[in-house]
Amino acid sequence: MTTAQADPWLLTPGPLTTSATVKAAMLHDRGSRDRAFLELDAEIRRRLVALVGGEGSHVCVPIQGSGTFAVEAMLGTLLPRDGRLLILVNGAYGRRMETIARYHGRAVETLEWPEDRPVDPARVEERLALGPPVTHLALVHCETTSGVLNPLPAIAELAARFGVALLVDAMSSFGALPIDVRTTPFTALAASANKCLEGVPGVGFVLVCESVLEAARGNAPALSLDLVDQHAAWRRTGQWRFTPPTHVLAALHRALLEHEAEGGVEGRGRRYAANARILIEGMRALGFEPLLDSAHQAPIIVTFAMPADPRFRFETFYGLLRARGYVIYPGKLTVVPSFRMGCIGRLGPEVMRGAVEAVRAAMVELGVASGAPARAASGQGAAA
Ligand SMILES: *Cc1c(COP(=O)(O)O)cnc(C)c1O
Repeated sequence: MTTAQADPWLLTPGPLTTSATVKAAMLHDRGSRDRAFLELDAEIRRRLVALVGGEGSHVCVPIQGSGTFAVEAMLGTLLPRDGRLLILVNGAYGRRMETIARYHGRAVETLEWPEDRPVDPARVEERLALGPPVTHLALVHCETTSGVLNPLPAIAELAARFGVALLVDAMSSFGALPIDVRTTPFTALAASANKCLEGVPGVGFVLVCESVLEAARGNAPALSLDLVDQHAAWRRTGQWRFTPPTHVLAALHRALLEHEAEGGVEGRGRRYAANARILIEGMRALGFEPLLDSAHQAPIIVTFAMPADPRFRFETFYGLLRARGYVIYPGKLTVVPSFRMGCIGRLGPEVMRGAVEAVRAAMVELGVASGAPARAASGQGAAA
């Protein structure tokens, strides 16, 4: 069996490094109608609801595919044909929700911010108070494009006050940053197995207010992404409608037990925060500058501005790190050349220190003395 040690460490936004025990959970063939599988599956859904304190109000509806499938299922199922969606956009994932809503032919508008700034609740409040009415509001909790943390509690408060349904893409924060539906009310939230929960890719899920879901019959533009139909099947038969990703679910089940053993959301968040600290301090010591102001930086993924030194070639740099066992990620910003290093997945302090050391060694090989970007990026307005 391939162990985590033999594989490169994935300092990426997903798929991520998983524990050997999560991978080992997949070494069994399970029947999709078999009692043992159905119990495991039901326990996953119960545990995911409990992670947001949603018992009694929200249900969990998993959906096969990557995280985007869950986001598309959430928007498609919950937005009625005569609805109007306002999306708060400060990166590629907010933009992707706009693309999805347009595919579905739904009325959609956006409010936009630069990629290095969080969504500003004051502007959202102004729009909700003064503009034409919207029925739904969509927010990306941690915009993985840059790693910026958006103010979910303030937006949830606005949605509740204006009577607008709130749909959250919490893909890269779920399981590591606290979200409690009793204090931060949301209508629905989409996430996936393979980010902070440290499962493997192949399944996403939507946590959705049950009464809203029941009223959403007939909205979905696609059978396979209809959360109402899937939820009804579980109520009726306890089973998935179509072939469940049994191995992926077994891995997620194991990953949820390990999440709990680590101290749940708080324990996991603490490890990731320590990872981010080691990474940012180590990279700063080499001259690199994080794009974001530390107040807006989520401990999920860190964007660094590309160094000014012309000897720094990202592809070569990437290859040198890969040869030392670390996989990083190109930037996704539209305005500033950058690259990203993730803090999530089965990684601890030694791996983060090893990654910084690999960066240092790669710079020596490239003949690059400092990672400093062209202009001193103070984290202010670099993408404005
Ligand atoms: C990873 C991610 C997604 C989903 O991406 P997939 O490639 O479809 O898994 C959606 N939103 C955010 C914020 C993400 O980080």
